[in-house]
Formats: sequence, structure tokens, C-alpha cells
Amino acid sequence: MAQVYFIGAGPGDPELLTIKGKRIIERADVIIYADSLVNPEVCAFARDGVEIHRSASLSLEEITGIIEKAVKRGKVVARLQSGDPAIYGAIQEQMTILDEAGIEYEVVPGVSSLFAAAAALKTELTVPEISQTVIITRLEGRTPVPASESLKSLAAHRASMAIFLSTSLVESVAAELLEGGYPPKTPAAVVYKASWEDEAVVLTELKSLAERVKTLGIKKQALILVGDFLASKGKSAPSRLYAKEYRHEFRPSG
Ligand code: SAH
Repeated sequence: MAQVYFIGAGPGDPELLTIKGKRIIERADVIIYADSLVNPEVCAFARDGVEIHRSASLSLEEITGIIEKAVKRGKVVARLQSGDPAIYGAIQEQMTILDEAGIEYEVVPGVSSLFAAAAALKTELTVPEISQTVIITRLEGRTPVPASESLKSLAAHRASMAIFLSTSLVESVAAELLEGGYPPKTPAAVVYKASWEDEAVVLTELKSLAERVKTLGIKKQALILVGDFLASKGKSAPSRLYAKEYRHEFRPSG
């Protein structure tokens, strides 16, 4: 049985932790949490006196070193990552090291900040006849982005777009998107600290996005969302799923 669990700890609100994630935290002996984004309140589900490490200041080797030592002592480790670990979670390199050490682990998914941001905006990312595609991307930072995935080239699709890790570079983001093909009036939003108590939402047009974000001083813990889905309430065609005349497996008689 795995003793190491990578857990998607959600976007911030501790109630957005999954029941499975919470149950593992409740029986963990060692907790390592990404304190840059994970709400420390999720650690309140842990037993008294458990070993808790904050990972923001640790190196990859230090993190996996803590895990390896704990496993040798027969301990259960909960590694808490923000949102869902599969999105910019830097989980791959941790798993590789554990694979090499022959340590088994399980991954428990979580609510990505993308979905908390969509909830904050009360919007659907995939609105029929507006966009059926979501592009999850980022601007190049210390981590490079392949040239074939430049924001400018992705913009040509005019799909619903979620841009992580890039709010401090919002001017470049907006410039590339405009250059790439989104019209200046395309709706654009920034959601700061989605699902936290101090969550803030800015809804504007792409041409004004950089100025609004700069004025508010939002630099991190924020997602940029761009696309017509943001202004589609009441304008879109309803999904076929609930259409009266559309019969399917779960509603054979309409
Ligand atoms: N795995 C995480 C993303 C980690 S990368 C997830 O699924 O959400 C870190 C980036 O995620 C931040 O730079 C920011 O763009 C975004 N982010 C994380 N938490 C957020 C939140 N509560 N609100 C808005 N954006 C958030």
C-alpha cells in the first residue's frame, strides 16, 4: 500500500479539499505543503503533533529527501500541492525521484484554481457556439515555453484561454494576445486568490486588461482568463444536452 500521497489541496478554500484528500491528511504522520499557495488551514485537519514542512523554501531534493526518510521510518506522507497537481504542479520531477528510489505513491486530484476562477466568474468555459476549447497556458518565465506554443500563436484560435503564472507580465500577455488575433474588445478577466476570503475579480476588455491589473497592483496568485465565453451569458445557444427534443441514454423519452 502506498504511504506517500500527492494531494491536490485545491485553490484555497479548505472546504474545496476532496474528502479523500482530507481523510489522508487526517491520518498522515508527515505533511509537506506548498505554503506559497496552499491554505495552511488544510493542515488543521491533521492530528496533533504531526511533522509539518513548508515546501516553498525547499529544493526538490530536500522535499524528496523528507519523503524518503519518512517512508523508511514507516510513516504516511501527505504532500499537498495547490489546485490540481497535474497543472504546473512540478509533480513530475518529484515522482521521477521516488520512482528511482522504488517508493510507491498515489496521486489524489484536486480542484484547480482554473475551476475556482470560473466559479467566481459564474461562467462556463465551454459555451456552445462560442468556444468548445480551453487552452491552459502560461507566458515563459524561468520555465521555458516551447516556441510552437507562443501566446501569439495560440491566440489565433480565439478559444477560451486560461493563463497561469503570468499576471506580473500582464502587459506582454495582452500584447501577444492582441497581436495573435483576439480583437481588442474581447472580454478578459483576472481572478485574484480564487476561493479565498480576499478573492477579487476584474472583468474588462483585453485592451484595458494590463492597465486595470497594474492599477490594482495584482502580481501573483491570479489567473488571467480571456475569451468570448466571459460575455456570453444569454447570448449563447443552449447546450444540446438539456434540449427537450434531444434524447439520450439518461433521458430516453425526452
Ligand atoms: N496546480 C495549480 C497551479 C499551480 S501554478 C492549480 O491547479 O491551480 C501557480 C499559479 O496558479 C499561480 O501563478 C496562479 O496563476 C494560479 N493560482 C493558484 N492558485 C490560485 C488562486 N487561488 N486564484 C487564482 N490563481 C491561482
